[in-house]
Amino acid sequence: MKIGAPRERLEGEARVALTPQSAAQLKKLGYDVVMEAGAGERARFGDDTYREAGVEVLDGAEALYAAADIVLKVRAPEGDELELLREGQTLISFIWPAQNEALLETLKGKGVNAIAMDMVPRISRAQKMDALSSMANIAGYRAVIEAGNNFGRFFTGQITAAGKVPPAKVLVVGAGVAGLAATGTSVSLGAITYAFDVRPEVAEQIESMGAEFVYLDFEESSQDSAATGGYAAPSSPEFREKQLEKFRELAPDIDIVITTALIPGRPAPKLWTEDMVKMMKPGSVVVDLAAERGGNCDLTVPDEKIVTDNDVTIIGYTDFPSRMATQSSTLYSTNLRHMLDDLTPEKDGTPVMNMEDDVIRGATVVNAGEITFPPPPPKTQ
Ligand code: NAD
Repeated sequence: MKIGAPRERLEGEARVALTPQSAAQLKKLGYDVVMEAGAGERARFGDDTYREAGVEVLDGAEALYAAADIVLKVRAPEGDELELLREGQTLISFIWPAQNEALLETLKGKGVNAIAMDMVPRISRAQKMDALSSMANIAGYRAVIEAGNNFGRFFTGQITAAGKVPPAKVLVVGAGVAGLAATGTSVSLGAITYAFDVRPEVAEQIESMGAEFVYLDFEESSQDSAATGGYAAPSSPEFREKQLEKFRELAPDIDIVITTALIPGRPAPKLWTEDMVKMMKPGSVVVDLAAERGGNCDLTVPDEKIVTDNDVTIIGYTDFPSRMATQSSTLYSTNLRHMLDDLTPEKDGTPVMNMEDDVIRGATVVNAGEITFPPPPPKTQ
């Protein structure tokens, strides 16, 4: 069987689903591998590096889709790409099935099987395939780098012959995968780092990284996130008020805010309000990693960097992983390779859609002419 990865069509998307190293590993699983010419270029993987890994490089998307039995992608296919998919083919990519019902219908209508990397259950056994976490980790790191690039001072404090420099103060709002990566990066650069999350269980993790968890003076502060699969639920109005009150207290003193707060299936909660931005010092920076879902900051403009009247920079880019395309392609293609490893129990180049397997079942959104989303909850943890 042949596995192939086309060039990503979306403007500005620099990632590629398959690196030469992962391609070589897929060959060991018994597959033949094909790539569209130029597919890895923007992630700095040239065609020759694929050829050296034993990959056949094909000219154009038509040739790639015609040859591949399994198509690996980063972004869900759209527009004329959908016409290239054919019956019996398997697509593995990000799909976001809850927001993309029409895509699921199209895939079903074409007789294409689809595995959504964003639907891999977040259970221990599946961590090696957890593409959401690999991309969130990169986004969190890059958010801090982007903030630093727009901030006119050091992160770390210094005593120099030319004077004493105070350390920057960074606040990370939302301590999931991206927030923890941002916290770790900020601490490692030497900033005084604070982090807040509605899930109190992350306090220990934050503190073990050398950052300070922001506690609220609120009795019913605990969210029982075990009941919501580890994710946050919307806060009560009273809790939210306490949270905003605390942020207002911090705003005049904080140099950089990185917001990452999300609640599954809902728009991003507004947590860094316009009046907080007004209270910030000139030169401060807000990086809003929730921009794609509407933003945690009132003033965020998705995909843009704006500077307010009081000289606060607000960054709403939605392509942080793509800005580190070599790294993100490497991690994503490793996630895909692990998925294919599990899909190929005999290591003989023949995938088996074992719908009894929690991970395969959870991620499969179209199978054998049926939409199989949403999946039942996983049986194991
Ligand atoms: P996410 O991207 O859905 O949300 C980001 C963070 O925002 C979360 O920590 C959430 O609690 C927080 N948040 C929501 N509303 C908030 C508010 N009003 N104020 C402050 N913070 C708010 O989260 P994620 O990174 O996808 O992680 C979600 C959960 O999944 C976590 O419990 C994480 O540990 C868990 N997880 C488990 C695995 C695994 O076991 N394989 C892998 C990855 C993540």
